Amino acid sequence: MTTHEATVLLIEDEPEIRRFLRTTLPAHGYRLHEAATGRQGVTEAKARNPDLILLDLGLPDQNGVEVIRQIREWATMPIIVLSARDQEQVKVSALDSGADDFVTKPFGVNELLARIRTALRHAARPAGEPGESAFTLGDLRVDLNRRQVLIAEKEIHLTPIEYKLLTTLVRYAGKVVTHRQLLKEVWGPLHVDEHHYVRVYMRQLRNKIEANPAQPRYLLTELGVGYRLKTE
Ligand code: CA
Repeated sequence: MTTHEATVLLIEDEPEIRRFLRTTLPAHGYRLHEAATGRQGVTEAKARNPDLILLDLGLPDQNGVEVIRQIREWATMPIIVLSARDQEQVKVSALDSGADDFVTKPFGVNELLARIRTALRHAARPAGEPGESAFTLGDLRVDLNRRQVLIAEKEIHLTPIEYKLLTTLVRYAGKVVTHRQLLKEVWGPLHVDEHHYVRVYMRQLRNKIEANPAQPRYLLTELGVGYRLKTE
């Protein structure tokens, strides 16, 4: 048992998933609170102020996106959305409304635990700190101080937009970034609807850093939602 258990609030109406997480999460050092409706979830979130929220998007009383909006009025803790495979549009609205990540049902324990760790690590990074100055995974190294990108220790030349796209994904490493978020952060708020920009530049970026751009090892596509830079 760790000294500082993180508290997780699960807002989910499916008894099977609740039963599953009720045994799994405490076994991995998390303290779990539960709510079965959106209303109850918002009340519990206010009462418990958990370190992280797991939120089902299909709740009996409220749309999950609405729950996120209510929680985001006062809280910044990470929210990981639990969604069904065919809910791309809802997932995107959830992420754009302030959810941090999503896991698609049915999910494995290891996948969920990895997402929880990433979200908590990201939330723990103090504001105003320069943070990690380099990102390394496999052959890829992105040095943010020197503004260098290396593959197997060989420097790769990126255009300014490609570099900004890659470093934006580095900043959210391990988490999904929606098309809209990428457009806002790389191209600016006036270009949030130009979805083809991201597609075109992601293809160029993959051609430069992936050994096989058709089967990327670093820059993963989250179908219909956005992209994720792998961390492990
Ligand atoms: Ca449900």
